[in-house]
Amino acid sequence: MPAAIHPTILIVEDEAPIAETIVYALRTEGFTPLWKPTGRDALAAAAQQPVALVVLDIGLPDMSGFDVCRELRRTQVVPIIFLTARSAEVDRIVGLELGADDYVAKPFSPRELTARVRAVLRRSNGVSGPAGQASGWSHDEARCRIGFQGKPLDLTRNEYRLLSVLLASPGRVFSREQLMNAAWSDPGAALDRTVDVHIKTLRAKLRAVAPEADPIVTHRGLGYSLREE
Ligand code: CA
Repeated sequence: MPAAIHPTILIVEDEAPIAETIVYALRTEGFTPLWKPTGRDALAAAAQQPVALVVLDIGLPDMSGFDVCRELRRTQVVPIIFLTARSAEVDRIVGLELGADDYVAKPFSPRELTARVRAVLRRSNGVSGPAGQASGWSHDEARCRIGFQGKPLDLTRNEYRLLSVLLASPGRVFSREQLMNAAWSDPGAALDRTVDVHIKTLRAKLRAVAPEADPIVTHRGLGYSLREE
């Protein structure tokens, strides 16, 4: 999502005192807060206008934050920070493949939340966008770190480079040669199947984080691409 001057942050929270604190903190930090007290209101608002990030309470009066997240993910790839009051919910956030970017446990300080909002926006910059791109990814280029489904991946240098290439153009099929040239500093020294070996270890690391996702697609005789959503 292109960086707006005052990015709109959608806050979905039914408790007014908490919402007001968040609204105030985000406005002070230069964001444009948009508060909705129910899941349905939030989904309607997100469908009407572009939102840079969603702060999403799990315990809402009309539907759960998990359902709101699922609905949002159907149509867009907006970063989401969950607000949770129970540690059991944290397990679900981490365990389910909701593509949550972060979570903050209640009670939290407004300063803590705005710091998380900034961090997630920084991380997702260039990766999130309208539907049709890859979702669930975060890419911190300054630190050479890639996360998937809210979890950081422990990657070797070549795995990181390889995945960065795929991540930059979701849906595009890259030949082994293209991937090797992009990811290896000395491609002449590497064999063709080295790419296959690295894709295999990458897949294993992604499976450890999200067993069902399988985001790297094999195109027989052609090469690989990152699954588009
Ligand atoms: Ca609540």
